[in-house]
Amino acid sequence: MSNIERLMFVIVFLAAITFFLKNAFRVFAIMCLGRWENRFDNLWSRFGNLLKYGFGQLRVIKRKFGINHFFLFWGFMSLVLVYLEFLINGMLPKFSLAFLGTIPYGVLLFIADIMSLVSIICVIIAMLRRALFRPKHIDPTLDAFVILSMITVLMVAFFAENACKVTLNKLPMTEWRPVSSYLSTIFAGMPDNNVHVLSRVFYWVHGIVLLFFINYLPFSKHLHILTALPNCFFRSPKLLSTVPRLIFRKGEEFGVSKVVQFTWKDILDFMACTECGRCQDVCPATYTDKPLNPKLMVHQGKVNIFKNGAKIREQRPSDMIASAPKNAKMEVPLINCNEESVSTDAIWSCTSCGACMQVCPVFIEHVPKFIKMRRHLVMEEADFPEELISFFEAAEQRFNPWGFAPTDKIKWTTDFDIPIISEKNKAEYLFFVGCAGAFDNRSRQVTISLTKILNKAGISWGILGNEEKCCGDSLRKLGNEYVFEKMVQDNIEIFKKYGIKKIITFCPHCFSTLKNDYKQFGADFEVIHHTQLINSLIEVGRIKPVKNTNEKIVIHDSCYLGRYNQIYDEPRNIIKACSGGNKPLEMKKCKDNSFCCGAGGGRMWMEELIGKRIYLERTQQAISTKASIIAVACPYCLTMFEDGVKDEKAGNEIWVKDIAEIVLDSISE
Ligand code: SF4
Ligand code: SF4
Repeated sequence: MSNIERLMFVIVFLAAITFFLKNAFRVFAIMCLGRWENRFDNLWSRFGNLLKYGFGQLRVIKRKFGINHFFLFWGFMSLVLVYLEFLINGMLPKFSLAFLGTIPYGVLLFIADIMSLVSIICVIIAMLRRALFRPKHIDPTLDAFVILSMITVLMVAFFAENACKVTLNKLPMTEWRPVSSYLSTIFAGMPDNNVHVLSRVFYWVHGIVLLFFINYLPFSKHLHILTALPNCFFRSPKLLSTVPRLIFRKGEEFGVSKVVQFTWKDILDFMACTECGRCQDVCPATYTDKPLNPKLMVHQGKVNIFKNGAKIREQRPSDMIASAPKNAKMEVPLINCNEESVSTDAIWSCTSCGACMQVCPVFIEHVPKFIKMRRHLVMEEADFPEELISFFEAAEQRFNPWGFAPTDKIKWTTDFDIPIISEKNKAEYLFFVGCAGAFDNRSRQVTISLTKILNKAGISWGILGNEEKCCGDSLRKLGNEYVFEKMVQDNIEIFKKYGIKKIITFCPHCFSTLKNDYKQFGADFEVIHHTQLINSLIEVGRIKPVKNTNEKIVIHDSCYLGRYNQIYDEPRNIIKACSGGNKPLEMKKCKDNSFCCGAGGGRMWMEELIGKRIYLERTQQAISTKASIIAVACPYCLTMFEDGVKDEKAGNEIWVKDIAEIVLDSISE
């Protein structure tokens, strides 16, 4: 390399690095416009997550073609040191990583050589997939082809330059570079001068494309190459089972209507999206043609923060890294403005099923974002679907969603001998009946079945009766955090009054809310779902299924039991025990890939006017298994499937039963 060439390289390198650092800082400063939240706790577990999901790509490889991305990722990782050597070498020709020692350096060169070839193969597969077999959830963007082409040019130039140098005998340790050495045969026989010129051309192509690639990242969807690993590090494992608590502060707006009211981690989420479309692929709302697409919401957040963030930083150049001021003016509103903002229809369509969060390879937290926007609409604007007016009134004034008199909560006990905790000296378990269990006719049958099982097993239990208030799940998911908080405090006070330490529920919404959400308010008790309790009672022989059912049972995983709390085995074990050892049938979408019944996230209380009804889609999936019973473990799922079976006029072929009912049939002599 001549001195002039070296000088040119230094200039190009410094310009490219300066430009990159400037833009990386811009991205970082925009992220900091969000509100503060602490994601620096549990550092060891965060490092573990980074290794497992960031470097190990555990979620990526779970899906088809994920392995292709895995190899591409590791292809790049293995090239980092070699490319660094290449760049420094352009300015300091004597620089080499050979000081690492012959074997380590040789291994590094060998891996880089092989992984470059693997990367080219992966890129070709990715291009063919996009061009010829593109799945619906992947958009045909030019950006992807630009990046894939750049990677190909980068790798080809790397090999071509090395091969030329091998031909000229100017490359050390060729025995560690099998692919480059093999390719050098292409240039064998060419005059040395020509090979030298070609080597310089490939050198420059390699250098320019590499520096351009780095600078292209902050402006493209491949920004995730910089942000995905930090996003895996800062993930919150709790956020699939609950949403962040809203601390009510005087003078502060509730919820999120401006993108800068999200936290810095929410904004990092927007920037980390790989646009893989997995969330869109599993979303029941998108699947049934609702105006909601979780990938689009994340994309809209990204576009919105970049537009508004740039303006805010222009207005306040002195605050280079600081949260946006409270009165920051937004260029583009976040909600309901144009295609760059999130529509209210999308916000209200979410069932909070968590499927999107379960599959996202970079741990983007969709549900809390929808809830934060709902909080604004409900508590600041009173802008929500009409049918929620009566729901909110009923919940606030009568402490149940239907608006029944609170004194009617105990009515279902009239014909039974049900122990009330206030009248009983002591009970080991509180049976938290829940609003559906107390007021809904069909769910009451499940309540009664469960009480019979508890008695049969000799459990010491009791209910709160009229003192029990709604757990508040739907209120929270619909964004009415204020009334939710009141409900939580009232319930916790009653639990304390009676010294409650163990709670049984049969509703996964009550279960998850009492178990996960109430903790944010200082609650300290054990919460057990009836499937967990019944399973352990069968295991220890306190109840014995004596009559095997001959029915073909298909099982449905409720989102709040499965994805929210990882309870998958217990309901299956119970059905197996009641079916003479036969496992239940499974739908194609089951366990953590289960398809929502459509009632979560407060959707139970709303009309479903757009697209196909989610419950109908799920019921059809269940019917297609040719089962005679759909087994559920949730009163909302029970209602939705019963409606679905009615709509399908399949009432003579298939029944919907809660697992407690199946058990009671099986243990009754
Ligand atoms: S939580 Fe469920 S309904 Fe809501 S966006 Fe995610 S996948 Fe769709
Ligand atoms: S949010 Fe996650 S799952 Fe959805 S497109 Fe982005 S990276 Fe993929």
